[in-house]
Amino acid sequence: MSSTTENYLKKIFAASESSEKELVGLGELAQALGVTPGTVTTMMKSLSEAGLVDYRPRAGVALTATGRREALDVVRRHRLIELFLVEVLELDWADVHEEAEVLEHAISDRLLNRIDEILGHPTNDPHGDPIPDARGRIPGSSETTLADVTAPATVRIVRVEHHEESGFLDFLKEAGLVPGTQISLVERNRAAGTVSIKTGQTLRAVSLQAARKLRVEVLKPGRR
Ligand SMILES: [Zn+2]
Repeated sequence: MSSTTENYLKKIFAASESSEKELVGLGELAQALGVTPGTVTTMMKSLSEAGLVDYRPRAGVALTATGRREALDVVRRHRLIELFLVEVLELDWADVHEEAEVLEHAISDRLLNRIDEILGHPTNDPHGDPIPDARGRIPGSSETTLADVTAPATVRIVRVEHHEESGFLDFLKEAGLVPGTQISLVERNRAAGTVSIKTGQTLRAVSLQAARKLRVEVLKPGRR
């Protein structure tokens, strides 16, 4: 399968994961891939002929079972490679995405399985994203974003979205806001567009925009 095809499947998968809607719009896909709507339409016709997507002109597109399986396979390679680069090669978590984008299309199954073994069959990548297993199974999640939690509350950071934004990852690491960290959501201020959070003794304000990129698990809803 070509790397272009793999990237399309991966994007359709990501878009369908982050939305409740059944179909992914072609405009949204074109924007995410940085190509013209015409290019996406042409590609959808050929992926549809290959049995990888269910394409409904003017409505959108969804992965078929085969397409989803292929997408999960690329996602698995991407996430395992990122973890390998951080854990074994000791690269910074902000620097691994670009490398993984390239390597995910090149790595052999043999090498990937070895990485999986060396890392002890890990379940999450450095950004907290779940790693699909070799059979393409991925755990469902009950997380929400930090921006959607009612304050006050105690939450744990589960994963970081938009991990391709290395500057944002630098900020998170600096602030200690990494997956696994427990934080207190003190206040949500819609007017100011911020949430106040506390980690240890440090109180800080984070923009709602940043808070939307942090997926969290609510450990303890606060008292009103
Ligand atoms: Zn990545």
